[in-house]
Amino acid sequence: MSSTVTIGVLSVQGGVAEHIRMIEGLGAKAVPVRRAEHLAGLDGIILPGGESTTMSRLLRLGGMLAPLRAAIDGGLPSFGTCAGLIMLATEVLDTREDAVSLQVLDVTVRRNAFGRQVNSFETHVPFLGIEQPVHAVFIRAPRVERVGDNVDVMCTVDGGTIVGVRQGHVLGTSFHPELSEDDSVHKYFLQMVRDAVHSR
Ligand code: GLN
Repeated sequence: MSSTVTIGVLSVQGGVAEHIRMIEGLGAKAVPVRRAEHLAGLDGIILPGGESTTMSRLLRLGGMLAPLRAAIDGGLPSFGTCAGLIMLATEVLDTREDAVSLQVLDVTVRRNAFGRQVNSFETHVPFLGIEQPVHAVFIRAPRVERVGDNVDVMCTVDGGTIVGVRQGHVLGTSFHPELSEDDSVHKYFLQMVRDAVHSR
């Protein structure tokens, strides 16, 4: 039996609709999160891809940085894709000086790290805890250059470049699983959320 969980999708900027479609396709409830008060009652939250510097600015203007950080620090299961991963990271390289991140995932990420010629590419990558390789779409993606002691590497490309990480209740991918038909990473995240709900 699977209980229905409610997943917020941060909706200040970026690719929101695809995440909502995936979550609903998996039988969970998805709600857009535009303001701090929308954080109440969530079982999990997704930070979508987009443009991290813009997302950072809008979160700051909307007074959402501190409430969002507090919610995640307080144990809210969270999943960031691409710019969303950048927003979760403790350290961001090659970004604007005024850009801020939530600092809830102990990794160093470098923005736009896959070079100009290959701004976008797709591949299938093995992912820890998921049986089949995952269909991964990379669009001006960041890479993870350092992981903290408590961070698990979930997947790599090119023989070692880290593109998927998890630290307890916080999951991040450099790529966009929501832009393929492969819902396995979202399924994995929903399991994280259900495990957290059951241990509350
Ligand atoms: N390059 C973008 C950034 O730095 C991320 C791209 C994406 O989310 N697809 O925020």
